[in-house]
Amino acid sequence: MNKERKEFPYADVIVDISHESVDRPFSYRVPEHLKGKLEPGVSVLVPFGKGGGTRQGYVVALRDSISFEENRVKEIAGIAAGDTTVSAVSVRLAGWIREQYGSTMIAALKTVLPAKQRKRNLEKKEICRLLSPEETKKLAEDCGRKHRNAMERLLTALSEQERIPMELVREKLHISPSTINSLEKQGALLVETMRVYRDPINSLREAEQKSAPGSGGIRLSDAQRNIVDSIRKDYDAGVRKTYLIHGITGSGKTEVYMALIEECLKGGRQAIVLIPEIALTYQTVSRFLKRFGGRVSVLHSGLSAGEKYDQCERAKNGDIDVIIGPRSALFTPFDNVGLIIIDEEHEPSYKSETMPKYHARETAVYLASLHRASVVLGSATPSLESYYRAKQGEYGFFYLGERLTGNVLPKVYPVDLRRELREGNRSIFSRKLQELMEDRLEKKQQIMLFLNRRGYAGFVSCRSCGHVMKCPHCSVSLSEHKNGKLVCHYCGYEEPAVKNCPVCSSPYILGFRAGTEAVEERLHRMYPKARVLRMDGDTTKKKESYEKILSAFADGEADILLGTQMIVKGHDFPAVTLVGVLAADMSLFAGDYRAAERTFQLLTQAAGRAGRGSFPGEVVIQTYKPEHYSIVHAAGQNYEGFYEEEILYREIGLYPPAAHIMAVLVTGPDEGRAQHLAKELAKIARRKEESGDLAVLGPGTASLAKLSDHYRFIFYLKSSDVKILAGQRECMEEYIQALQKCPEQVQFDVDPMSGY
Ligand code: ADP
Ligand code: ZN
Ligand code: ZN
Repeated sequence: MNKERKEFPYADVIVDISHESVDRPFSYRVPEHLKGKLEPGVSVLVPFGKGGGTRQGYVVALRDSISFEENRVKEIAGIAAGDTTVSAVSVRLAGWIREQYGSTMIAALKTVLPAKQRKRNLEKKEICRLLSPEETKKLAEDCGRKHRNAMERLLTALSEQERIPMELVREKLHISPSTINSLEKQGALLVETMRVYRDPINSLREAEQKSAPGSGGIRLSDAQRNIVDSIRKDYDAGVRKTYLIHGITGSGKTEVYMALIEECLKGGRQAIVLIPEIALTYQTVSRFLKRFGGRVSVLHSGLSAGEKYDQCERAKNGDIDVIIGPRSALFTPFDNVGLIIIDEEHEPSYKSETMPKYHARETAVYLASLHRASVVLGSATPSLESYYRAKQGEYGFFYLGERLTGNVLPKVYPVDLRRELREGNRSIFSRKLQELMEDRLEKKQQIMLFLNRRGYAGFVSCRSCGHVMKCPHCSVSLSEHKNGKLVCHYCGYEEPAVKNCPVCSSPYILGFRAGTEAVEERLHRMYPKARVLRMDGDTTKKKESYEKILSAFADGEADILLGTQMIVKGHDFPAVTLVGVLAADMSLFAGDYRAAERTFQLLTQAAGRAGRGSFPGEVVIQTYKPEHYSIVHAAGQNYEGFYEEEILYREIGLYPPAAHIMAVLVTGPDEGRAQHLAKELAKIARRKEESGDLAVLGPGTASLAKLSDHYRFIFYLKSSDVKILAGQRECMEEYIQALQKCPEQVQFDVDPMSGY
């Protein structure tokens, strides 16, 4: 018997209430009129609770029998109108996300729904000629003789053109509906209604059509060809894998992606291309448009609900088969995905910051297994996780080490800010950077200045010797709190603030603070004639301002672009020949175990911005820690060297990828209660500590100790086995469910990307 067609009498439904106590499927009877119409993913209305009201929910399974009395089962009230359905694959994906990252099932289901609401279909009307051009022309002349001028105008136009859009007929030819009606009755024309899709990149497509034909003809280099051929060979042999391409900026990774997508489309399958939100620019999208034209679209949070809904519809009905977007584009409802590409796979934005805190890379690998698809990761600075897995043979690995445009990698000068201070320079610009800035301003070449503020958490460092105050238990930096104490955000360790450096006794030991605004002011004072553009969280609050600032700079409207990490990706600026990193160590002591990795990545990416055009580039990296391995290796553009040192540290400290770590964040309006719950939960986890592969750290006050009047406490679990962490999470969830009242919120974060 065909299982698909079977009329199941019962359905399991996840009700749309995000609360642990109802986070399980409830069984309902399927009413006669819905038999055979339900499948996993359909949104339904069900009676729920004592009041007799209905709630929305999602069918997650159909079943033959139930384990309790028939008369206690309620009946499904109907299919929910206006809601989109999720595919059966998405229901499985949601189940996996729930299990892997910890969240309610309903939150996981909502995550895998790219368009939450059904929107009105947009329509377009066209007038089509039914008679031959000659007959139509003749009829027009007849109308002219009878002074039916409107009819004559329309028929004359139709004799020249078989189809005319309705708007043109109404607005340009000024024809009324009654005229159209009577000609339709006479059999001269037909009004046709067609569905049109909202197209978020319509203007880009039009611009593309006018420009020269695309790069389809580029000849891949031997190294590029080798990647495409190897992956294809695997694919043809039935092997599905995850591959990592480690390729320096400009080494031709994007060309490889496009060649792979082409192969995928030839096989009749669809491709998903993930890029970090920040890199989703005009330049990136138009390259894919050039190559794949109407087959491509985008899906991201900036689209309207209607645009999102339509892109999903187009994906479902096969109108498009390549989607580009940030992590949520992973949930595009394609039915036969052959390839998932993740560009800049090391980017922290691939990890969701809200529950469920899924990582797009791991989720992509699981999704690929459901579709039997391949996954290709690309980066100039791969994440430790991916490189580690590639080294262990779990991922296929390729290296691209040359720029194909012929230009060379920039020259990098590390500058020791301690020495600048010793030699009397108290400015935020070192002498080397000033000298090179003046040179570029004179030559009218562009400069980018980069203030690294990511993860800035008020670490305390010595301006004379560079010593940073660290936790004796966790080897992450201590953060300065308002109460004057230095606090570790991993284990809760505290010590009083210091007045003198414990290493060199210098009194210049303080929290590091400097903003882009202050730097901009300095620039104006030093170079009054230079045109400066500033880009940071303040100047880019509006949706388009980000793109506007970058295009203005690309068009040469400024000499200096000053900004936070936002400026290091996306656009290509061929006229930039100098990049200055003002304080490279700011992210080095962010108080989390990824700080060195993040710093290395940011510095390498920033350096990669210089000299993309025909002039060679130079990079100045200012730092208090020139001897730190992440800075030494970034200056030497030496990924392998960095990896070798960093992985040792991860192995010794049992941090990912050597082990897994789960952050548990407890927040609540009452400080004492929230802290108490954090302690209780940590105690539960500690019960298993004895048995081996589990360590519990904390709880302590979170780095962000209070947010919107909610107090935040954090503790960490470490284990080499992610399943042990999931088991611990379940124990804690059970404890929370059993509580009478729980105004506190508990969030889990597996292998977090940043500190709390
Ligand atoms: P990445 O994605 O690694 O930064 P891209 O694919 O953007 O690299 O390529 C960088 C530049 O090199 C682009 O201008 C691209 O057109 C050019 N390029 C890439 N592959 C080739 C090739 N095989 N021959 C010539 N130019 C190439
Ligand atoms: Zn010191
Ligand atoms: Zn500590």
